[in-house]
Amino acid sequence: MLRTGRQKQLRVPFKDNIKKNEAKSLVGYNIKCKNCEANYIGKCNRILSYRISEHKKSSESSCCQHESSTGQTMDYDNIEIIDKADTDMKLRIKELLYILKRKPSLNKQLNSQSNYEILLTNS
Ligand SMILES: [Zn+2]
Repeated sequence: MLRTGRQKQLRVPFKDNIKKNEAKSLVGYNIKCKNCEANYIGKCNRILSYRISEHKKSSESSCCQHESSTGQTMDYDNIEIIDKADTDMKLRIKELLYILKRKPSLNKQLNSQSNYEILLTNS
């Protein structure tokens, strides 16, 4: 029996991924408040500016909530890229380490145990 029909073979262009280093969008970032010590550490695996625009308008976002509750302004123009990774898993671990180390006040998941649970359930 020959199976010449459609075979699902999706080849990921690894070489292209390596070449397009500048287009890499797996980044961890740190957003600071212009007016106080508050900051937020996040990560994204999409284009960063897109994620930031979500932060600006979403009432779910910690940054947005900080702005509306204090009347202060998050410094979206000076976002610090704290790290990069080539896989989501690596970036997730890095983000977690930064959060545990810097303890950003706007991150709600500061409980380290729940962080590790996030890691486990997503791995
Ligand atoms: Zn503030």
